[in-house]
Amino acid sequence: MSRFAIIALVLVLARAIAELWLSRLNQRHVRAHADEVPLAFREMVDEPTYRRSVDYTLAKSRFGEVVTLFDTALLIAILFSGVLPWAFGKFRAAFGMSVWAMAGFLFATGVALSIISLPFTWYAQFKLEARFGFNTTTMKTWVLDRLKGFFLAVLLGFSLLVLVLKLIEWTGPNWWIWAAAVVIAFQLLLLLISPAVIMPLFNKFTPLQDGALRERLFALAQRTDFPTRSIEVMDGSKRSHHSNAFFTGFGRFRKIVLFDTLVAQLAEPELESVLAHEIGHYKKRHIAKLLSVSIVGVFIGFAAIASLARQQWFYRAFGFEYHAGFAAANVVPAMLLFALLAGTVSFWFSPLVHVWSRRFEYEADAFARTTMDDAQPLIQALRKLSEKNLSNLTPHPLYSGFYYSHPTLLERQKALQTAA
Ligand SMILES: [Zn+2]
Repeated sequence: MSRFAIIALVLVLARAIAELWLSRLNQRHVRAHADEVPLAFREMVDEPTYRRSVDYTLAKSRFGEVVTLFDTALLIAILFSGVLPWAFGKFRAAFGMSVWAMAGFLFATGVALSIISLPFTWYAQFKLEARFGFNTTTMKTWVLDRLKGFFLAVLLGFSLLVLVLKLIEWTGPNWWIWAAAVVIAFQLLLLLISPAVIMPLFNKFTPLQDGALRERLFALAQRTDFPTRSIEVMDGSKRSHHSNAFFTGFGRFRKIVLFDTLVAQLAEPELESVLAHEIGHYKKRHIAKLLSVSIVGVFIGFAAIASLARQQWFYRAFGFEYHAGFAAANVVPAMLLFALLAGTVSFWFSPLVHVWSRRFEYEADAFARTTMDDAQPLIQALRKLSEKNLSNLTPHPLYSGFYYSHPTLLERQKALQTAA
């Protein structure tokens, strides 16, 4: 093994060990509080619900460990067994080195990996979620979702890959700048057309019925100067009892979407406060900030790939032959290896990213409180959502640091109450 192969192996193992350790740490923490409902939650959740949330947390956590072990073993096997260079050689021999063939290789590898993980996806939905009464997905919906996803991946993902690889041959040394720009333009376009073209493939959207709730929410949109043409209800209950709300699209394509499960679970002032929180994200420019960070991220990613594609030692470390020059076939191994390894590095930055995203949540909460002139509806909504979704009420701080993009219920409640 070359020195770099050893570094890569250490990175893969370090992440797996950290994930397993965090999971155990969190399980111990949850069990230590499992005997009785902690004081802070007594008035909001009853004993049986609390027990179920503990069981749900522990079951998900144990399943997560199995997935981590499997993914790690799989990653080590494909990185160091020589299967990738072997498959790459076979593929080139059969289909040549054209941009189409090279995009086909990357695409086929991605499809193969997602097929391998299908049993886990299936188990999570039909065993784990079902055991706690969340699953409402039928086998037919699940299979159709997979097929639609595959169809979209061919139509959008594969074409984008072809275009990016073409750019390598068209633009030479600066290909990565062009590629990043094209990928970003593509993402923006997707954001724009997704509400109209892609999301309806998976869910049904119906305008919110006339009535008190509709009037209340439109009044909120007007009051906060958040022009929206429609508020729609999405049949989230088709897949799960979990609930959510979001808005999508830009400018005149913008629409507010509420899950039917959310409408069923919350009272009107609570729904209004959840919507006020979402509008808060928009008003505080969180969407624009997240978008600029992801743009920077795409540029850094492509810069990294372009630089790795010039390193002989990087190719050798994983058994690939190195050829200089700006042909798709010379860059494709670097792209593949980058895709496989990027997570082992980015994992360590997740606590930083979460510090940032949590600040956004606090700001959106504060916006909702000011808009509603009362903290109570949002607090009530957050409590109900946490109860209905059987959220872990007592995560270990280090665990939530790595995995939670939102502050915990207790933290949000405290912030809402102190400022009030
Ligand atoms: Zn939020």
